Amino acid sequence: RIIVMRLGHRPERDKRITTHVGLVARAFGSDGILLASNDPGIEKSIDDVTDRWGGGFFFRNNVNWKHEIKKWKKEGGYVCHLSMYGINLPDVVEEIKPCDKLMIVVGAEKVPPEIYEMADWNVAVGNQPHSEVAALAITLDRISDTDPLKKKFEDSRLEIMPMDRGKKVIENTDLDK
Ligand code: SAM
Repeated sequence: RIIVMRLGHRPERDKRITTHVGLVARAFGSDGILLASNDPGIEKSIDDVTDRWGGGFFFRNNVNWKHEIKKWKKEGGYVCHLSMYGINLPDVVEEIKPCDKLMIVVGAEKVPPEIYEMADWNVAVGNQPHSEVAALAITLDRISDTDPLKKKFEDSRLEIMPMDRGKKVIENTDLDK
């Protein structure tokens, strides 16, 4: 079980990037995302995607990040905070992989300093500044034993038939019954 926590989202600036964090979290195999900020619009857009494209992904808006981390750890979960200042992912990935209850934390402009102490691992996806979207995608890919790109999304209304050229989407109307 893998969940993602998005810290530091500013509703006036970060809508698009936080939506992308949610889409990547879902598409590359995590079970859900916690948003440590109040932005019901993002919850709605991610829930709409899950409704159409399937999978049992959850979105929880407006959580208290400290409370959620403490609760997660009490339940035996581990926390991996993504930060360019951390230990480079290839040097720690084998330690993280066996963990079957993992929360991956990504920040925005700046994160509360306490997160560095609360996390079990502070992990860099390369020690260069880039993006929470890229950092999350690469982490989900590297820590997985199976290929996240091959994940099946159950109960979808829409499914793409991959093709060389053009677009083909199949609609599953059974779910409306
Ligand atoms: N200067 C900021 C800092 O103190 O980390 C950079 C913030 S960056 C725009 C937003 C988020 O992207 C970070 O909180 C982190 O989760 C993620 N991030 C950016 N570069 C990263 C890297 N090289 N490795 C891991 N995470 C990274």
